[in-house]
Amino acid sequence: MTDTNSQPSGGIMTIPGPNEPMPVPRPTLVDGVTPREDGRTDLIGLPKTRIAELFEAAGLDKKAAKLRAKQVYHWLYHRGVTEFEAMTDIAKTMRPWLAERFVVGRPEIVQAQHSSDGTRKWLLRTADNHDYEMVFIPDADRGTLCVSSQVGCTLNCRFCHTGTMRLVRNLTVGEIVGQVMLARDALGEWPKSASDTRLATMAGLDEDEDEGSYSADGRLLTNIVMMGMGEPLYNFDNVRDALKLVMDGDGLALSRRRITLSTSGVIPQIERCGQEISVNLAVSLHAVTKEVRDEIVPINKKYGIEDLLQACADYPGASNARRITFEYVMLKDKNDSDEDARELVRLLKKYKLPAKVNLIPFNPWPGAAYECSTPERIKSFSNIVFEAGISAPVRTPRGRDIDAACGQLKTAAKKMSRAEIDRLYAEKDKEVVEELAQLPE
Ligand code: SAH
Ligand code: SF4
Repeated sequence: MTDTNSQPSGGIMTIPGPNEPMPVPRPTLVDGVTPREDGRTDLIGLPKTRIAELFEAAGLDKKAAKLRAKQVYHWLYHRGVTEFEAMTDIAKTMRPWLAERFVVGRPEIVQAQHSSDGTRKWLLRTADNHDYEMVFIPDADRGTLCVSSQVGCTLNCRFCHTGTMRLVRNLTVGEIVGQVMLARDALGEWPKSASDTRLATMAGLDEDEDEGSYSADGRLLTNIVMMGMGEPLYNFDNVRDALKLVMDGDGLALSRRRITLSTSGVIPQIERCGQEISVNLAVSLHAVTKEVRDEIVPINKKYGIEDLLQACADYPGASNARRITFEYVMLKDKNDSDEDARELVRLLKKYKLPAKVNLIPFNPWPGAAYECSTPERIKSFSNIVFEAGISAPVRTPRGRDIDAACGQLKTAAKKMSRAEIDRLYAEKDKEVVEELAQLPE
């Protein structure tokens, strides 16, 4: 996604198909670590305990390994340092020892684009040559980073450009948290050191940060939404571990209240998400009847609307203070009638959901089979929901000129004709149904 105006404002196999190049096999993860050609280990994405284990395996005694891991962890995730030489509380002799064995990586940037409305999009590349994207959307009162969880997507929602890509692979923990770290690099937003603070004070600058302290005040990057490429609940373990690093006070230290995970409705994972990370939930509802949702969000054939709403009602942590966001893309003559709006209200009330509805004007892409609803239709839909006491803001599309808007993210795939897209959807539908049939109920 990339439209805001308010909140939320492995090993997966590759299925090569006729429309996608054969992907290069991904490097095999060994205990969560991706091997590098130079034999060193990239620490990004690893938790403190794993870093300590690696230090111990490299020769430090247990106690020293634990202490060093604590220090390095702080420098890595809290201070954004990428060179061991800059880790000033680590003995000078120790630093080359670390640099010989370990690195602190970042995703490779292939292209950085700036929209006329301030939105920024980065095209990133994995070490095994797959492209994915992240988007930063600045607003007056917040700055939101839209993070990808997969290269491509397992699912195939008909209105989403990413849906026309096959799933290439899940992103690793390092590739997910690496996006947030890269954004902080680009925005110059790592906490400053005590010496920087002293210098700033001496220079008469207004600088009130303590060493390594971090607050959302005055920051550009204040919120994270898991709404880039991919279905985060199909890569939940990696998304969870990455977000734990983001939420850790000694890590990137961003509050769970500022993080939103968006799902197309993978019901069995919704509860885990609430229990294990308790971030804000957004659900891509997009339709109120089985017929229409089956067509535009095909996962609905497996997990229907009413079961999905029940899972939302049971979501741990949802309350009036932390409402669940229901995303609803406005598609002309498909899901945008007054009757649809009234049915939406009825359903949200039936399940007593602490809800808000985000109405997303459809962002077109070449070959898409839908059109955006008219502004008058969107207004009328919004009014009906609003008058029933449910907030229903219409999102302003952002970054359209750089293809950064909701559902436009898609890098690796080539442009396809309508017939090719239809063929791909038919194949993907079959695969999705087969894959879903293997999941536990
Ligand atoms: N896979 C997750 C998160 C990524 S999509 C999910 O589906 O929720 C982020 C949001 O953008 C979703 O609500 C999605 O339905 C919406 N979206 C996708 N394509 C779009 C398009 N072309 N125009 C408007 N919104 C779109
Ligand atoms: Fe995947 Fe979300 Fe796009 Fe559906 S809307 S195809 S789940 S990225």
